[in-house]
Amino acid sequence: MSTSLLYHGFGLTDQEYLKTEYKKGDVIFHIQTKEDKLQCSHCNSFNVIKKGFTERLFRTVPIGLKPVYLMAKIQRLECKDCGLIRQERIHFAEEKKATPIN
Ligand SMILES: [Zn+2]
Repeated sequence: MSTSLLYHGFGLTDQEYLKTEYKKGDVIFHIQTKEDKLQCSHCNSFNVIKKGFTERLFRTVPIGLKPVYLMAKIQRLECKDCGLIRQERIHFAEEKKATPIN
């Protein structure tokens, strides 16, 4: 697994690969948004600072017969332009490339 497979295999352009976890036959790729792609979900500014994060699990396309999940680190961002603190927008979930399961 690699960041380039995220792009070529899953169509994810803004995320980078962190690690792979194998749990009871499932494959879980841990990913996060690339530093330079973090932007305010309110005003789209890139002038943001990280304020903690949560993790969300998404189901995506299987590899062979193995279910594949993406564990996405989702940053809480403070926007220096509009002043709001919001979670980053997860584009791949909106584009239906992966389905949230929690
Ligand atoms: Zn903003």
